Amino acid sequence: MEESTRYFLSIADKIEKAFRENRELVKAILKKINEYSKVLESIYGKDFRFKIMNFCGTHEWTVTHFGIRSLVPKNIELVAGPGCPVCVTPSHFIEEAIKLALDGITVYTYGDTYKLRTLNSVKGYKSLSEVRGEGVVKLVTSLVDAIKDARKTNRESVFIGIGFETVAPGYASAILKGLVPENLKIMSLVKLTPPAMFYSLEILREKPTEPPVMGVIAPGHVSTITGGKAWSVVSENYGIPVVISGFEPIDVLLSILEILKQLVKGEAKTVIEYKRAVTWHGDIRAQRIVAKTFRVVDDAWRGIGFLPKSGLRLREEYRRYDAFEELGVKEIKPGEWGYDLPPGCRCAEVTLGKAKPTDCPLFMRVCTPDKPYGPCMVSLEGACAIWARFGSGGLAEEIAKELSLTI
Ligand code: SF4
Repeated sequence: MEESTRYFLSIADKIEKAFRENRELVKAILKKINEYSKVLESIYGKDFRFKIMNFCGTHEWTVTHFGIRSLVPKNIELVAGPGCPVCVTPSHFIEEAIKLALDGITVYTYGDTYKLRTLNSVKGYKSLSEVRGEGVVKLVTSLVDAIKDARKTNRESVFIGIGFETVAPGYASAILKGLVPENLKIMSLVKLTPPAMFYSLEILREKPTEPPVMGVIAPGHVSTITGGKAWSVVSENYGIPVVISGFEPIDVLLSILEILKQLVKGEAKTVIEYKRAVTWHGDIRAQRIVAKTFRVVDDAWRGIGFLPKSGLRLREEYRRYDAFEELGVKEIKPGEWGYDLPPGCRCAEVTLGKAKPTDCPLFMRVCTPDKPYGPCMVSLEGACAIWARFGSGGLAEEIAKELSLTI
């Protein structure tokens, strides 16, 4: 192992320990959280639930895996948001990818997209994993893997580019540096997160029986690119605190504490907890190359529909890399979009924070991580898959009691 890699791993290990293994600090944070929750209870009443949306799938993983719901007071409700790109990729585009594979084009895909089931079958196939025997479907972990393989095989190929703002600079850089070979096209399905945040906040406010979202834990990795400034519009327009958070349990607890503190003080600011990775202005170079390579489009989100200015497609200048232009992949137009979740699946409500995975009658009955029925059960960032693996409350609550961490 190289010296630089060893050094990096030792730092990563120290950070992980500092943000996971400090029980005294956790107790001190929980004490303050409890104090603030009591003040809020005295203002809003005993039955009021303070809904905090953890936007991103990785935060949902931290919250569920570490049993954070069982640590915080009962009047604080942590709800998952739409931060799982695989969950929200429309069925239509996976159906298009299946068609390409059946036409003999090599399809490069991430592992979770590979298992994603479509609404409609294409010649009897409903996922790229099913089509593997008939067409060429290869699993990759990045565009770089796809580039290397496409150069080697020289076959006509397509890379399915799913992700949020974090993946776009890598795609842009590969294109601008001329690394993508002629025989490889990119199906850009990159989604932009702020429009989904606005939509989920609006829709929760529209449901009168539900308490509104009172604070947002915003995605740390997306914000390394966009900067904290991308979220200030949320605190300004909705009058709620937003905290850009890291992904360790102490990061998340500190973010909850900051939200409650602001609510007690009557403030609504966007602040960065994840200062070790995020700045206010973000990665300006990355933002510049993304703007040069991609155009912003109104895009469809699975089960949800079209959200304005929520997706990225390649600009005309780069059409020679564009699967939509060069391989005839069909775009969906707003008027053509149809509800694309399988019958009974409540994934759209789960991703919008309107329902918990356990509210779905199919959860762990028809739909399991081994045999996912709906898209939220596929990816490790999907709320249903996370709840299926780690549960919520229950065992975590018992362990917290044993460690004297409950309030
Ligand atoms: S458990 Fe499965 S079917 Fe139910 S909402 Fe989640 S993904 Fe959809």
